[in-house]
Amino acid sequence: MMHFLPIGEADEIGANCFYLNIFGTGILLDCGIHPRKKGHDSLPNFSLLDQFPLDFVLISHAHQDHIGSLPFLVQRFPHVIIYSTNQTKEIAEAALHNAVNILAQNSVNENDFRIYSHEEIEFLVRSIRGINYNETISLKGMRHSGSSEINITFKDAGHILGSAGILLEHSDRKIFFTGDINFSNQSIMIGCDLKGIRNIDVLIIETTYGATDSKLIGTWSSETERLIKWANKIINQGGSILIPVFALGKTQEILSLLYRQMAMRKLTETNIFTGGVGREISDIYDRSRYLVRRNNKELLLKEIPQQNIFEIEDLSYFRKNPSIVLASSGMILEGTTSFKLLNYWMQQKSFAVFGVGYMDDSTPGYRLMNSKTGAKIKLTEFSEPKKINCTLERFFFPSHSIREDLLQIVKYVNPRKVVLVHGDLNAKDWLGQKILEFYPHIKVASAVNEKMMVL
Ligand SMILES: [Zn+2]
Ligand SMILES: [Zn+2]
Repeated sequence: MMHFLPIGEADEIGANCFYLNIFGTGILLDCGIHPRKKGHDSLPNFSLLDQFPLDFVLISHAHQDHIGSLPFLVQRFPHVIIYSTNQTKEIAEAALHNAVNILAQNSVNENDFRIYSHEEIEFLVRSIRGINYNETISLKGMRHSGSSEINITFKDAGHILGSAGILLEHSDRKIFFTGDINFSNQSIMIGCDLKGIRNIDVLIIETTYGATDSKLIGTWSSETERLIKWANKIINQGGSILIPVFALGKTQEILSLLYRQMAMRKLTETNIFTGGVGREISDIYDRSRYLVRRNNKELLLKEIPQQNIFEIEDLSYFRKNPSIVLASSGMILEGTTSFKLLNYWMQQKSFAVFGVGYMDDSTPGYRLMNSKTGAKIKLTEFSEPKKINCTLERFFFPSHSIREDLLQIVKYVNPRKVVLVHGDLNAKDWLGQKILEFYPHIKVASAVNEKMMVL
């Protein structure tokens, strides 16, 4: 028997964490933390696991919504064996150390919520077993009752460095979990590799852009042209540009895009600012450039001229020196660098904020990007309304598949059953309905949090 139980969020992009029981072997797919919740509420409901065997954790990639609660899981279940790609293991170290600092800043007083230490991260990361893409490993839990072992294989998901879709095979049954998956190329990443993933039993697929009309998203090349046009305009009028980005993935993609456009003399040469954990992660991109599928293997991100945003104390610097600032968080969450800079940016008429990635509709980034220059805006529920003087421009440089590509993935993989995850209800509805319309032989189920499903 195979059982599937979501224990984090199933109807939004939150704490991704899915329990699979394959003939007595317990496997967690991802172990994320909710980026906008605090304390105990931000974690998956680990107590549900007390009644089941848990042997292994497989991590698809190192974004917080997929790995952030791993240290909390290990506090509770120290015996679990963790697998990820080698690159995800490397990024996990930087990402989890950074997350401790953020957790400590936003700490809440709860009895059963103990923030882990940097030493615990060291120990945890050392214990992660890094494997190569396309390498197959056999697993068997303590209470495994199946006739054969479970084979797992990580396939390149094309989302960020190290990202993987995970194939699980047990006798003649196959399950494929996409993690976050991108079908098309970005500036550095190449679209996903699905070789060998065909005619499977169950496809567990993300639906991030399921509710988003792809006409709004455009393509990397058309969006690049538009971004360059706007950037030149702002720089030539003496303004600076803030681009809120995730430290992991979008920072590296946009940095490489800007550099290439400057090298081709399409973008006016100007100062680029980066900082913090984004830089550490860029080093990992550099170190692993020959080990993974990617564009521009020769490009070293650390050799791109860039200044450190944390060395600028007086923000009026940006009035005198037109600059492009890449600052996290990508959704401009309260307390982050992009949020702090935004307060200054909003006051400046000649400045601009460019949105480039996914923004959840409950975040300050979403509120800002859905507002207008000249309007007053409350960035958070409790903040004072403030006037937006700067230019706002929304771009889409997707690192997730657009919805037509999600449908292409379903068609190619041709599963017996699809389980929809990692998207809101509208996103899951769109994909679910299209699958039923075009591929009526495929069964569709939407994952429901804390509800067990037989696969
Ligand atoms: Zn991701
Ligand atoms: Zn995600």
